Amino acid sequence: MSAAAIRLSPEQANPPLLVFGGTFDPVHLGHLGAVSALRDALHAETVIWLPAGEPPHRPQPAASAAHRLAMLQLALAGEPDCVIDTRELDRSGPSYTVLSLEELKAEYPDHPLCLALGLDAALGLTQWHRWQEVLALGGIAVMRRPGWSLPEPLPQWWRDAECDPHRPVPASGGWVRFVDIPPVDVAAADIRADLMHGRSVEAKVPAAVAAYIKEHELYGKNTRD
Ligand code: ATP
Repeated sequence: MSAAAIRLSPEQANPPLLVFGGTFDPVHLGHLGAVSALRDALHAETVIWLPAGEPPHRPQPAASAAHRLAMLQLALAGEPDCVIDTRELDRSGPSYTVLSLEELKAEYPDHPLCLALGLDAALGLTQWHRWQEVLALGGIAVMRRPGWSLPEPLPQWWRDAECDPHRPVPASGGWVRFVDIPPVDVAAADIRADLMHGRSVEAKVPAAVAAYIKEHELYGKNTRD
């Protein structure tokens, strides 16, 4: 599925497009719960899920791109406002977010872009390729993530760009907002470790994803129940 399938709201002139990138290795209930709460908080509609092909800032995924994409499709089946955008899987070379945001901005010039990041990812933003341009191309909504606390003081770049939480997000880029969503304590690394040790992950991923992992014997020694 491509970004061309995005449904734009006839009611709201310029609802923000939420862009949610990740390795999704595998997609889990933390991703789904966090983004759903964020979408409500920002009055966004469409979420563009952007699976990374070759993540530049972390070890390469354990599962192939084809498996990660298949699991994402299963997790988002029946979610009409979620679009899976495969441009980073189709592009060769590192999956730089800035390139994807530049393309999305050109394709949807009338819609503010908002990059959704967990707090752990946001605190690493300044390590990203052309990170200032990432911030300039869209706003950044930072989601609470269990195990991570807001640093005090916040990094300077964050303080400089922080926007008023009581106002609608600006149509221009260059802003950051922390969104205090209900925490969902699930991480893909823990799921992979569970599977390696034969533990069930059914409470952490959608049922169809758990079945897919089992069927394809992903992530090492698989769960037996
Ligand atoms: P891993 O454990 O392999 O590092 P992950 O669970 O962090 O994986 P990613 O696909 O790397 O998942 O994350 C994509 C995005 O989702 C990141 O911005 C990350 O911070 C965010 N995220 C992942 N899990 C949660 C969660 N439980 N709550 C809020 N944000 C999350």
